[in-house]
Amino acid sequence: MPTLFTRIIQGEIPAEIVYQDEHVVAFRDIQPVAPIHVLIVPRTEIEGLATLPETGDHLRILNAAKIIAEQLGLGNGYRLVINQGEDGGQTVPHLHAHLLGGRKMNWPPG
Ligand code: 5GP
Repeated sequence: MPTLFTRIIQGEIPAEIVYQDEHVVAFRDIQPVAPIHVLIVPRTEIEGLATLPETGDHLRILNAAKIIAEQLGLGNGYRLVINQGEDGGQTVPHLHAHLLGGRKMNWPPG
């Protein structure tokens, strides 16, 4: 059974894709928590950080984040977040990073 994000990657479920390459696909979050809120998803299904393999598409998440941030004009800064498991607030079991920008971020996060 493909994950929700695989279905988006395959075009079954619509999303506003802002970037894609052979390793990752990035699209706008359906419930943004910042003016810019993009999800960066490796094409390979990995449940999360807890089951991360040594190699694979996920290794390109950081490079994709840099490119997307430049493309979206986030030169003043941004935040990259990966939620893992229940305590981390993960709701979709397909590894993804949240790229958040367009406002000043708070620390510590909630
Ligand atoms: P998590 O809570 O797992 O770290 O993040 C999952 C994210 O996926 C949430 O921010 C949520 O708003 C987003 N999301 C859930 N369903 C959809 C969807 O169908 N389309 C898009 N674009 N984002 C979704």
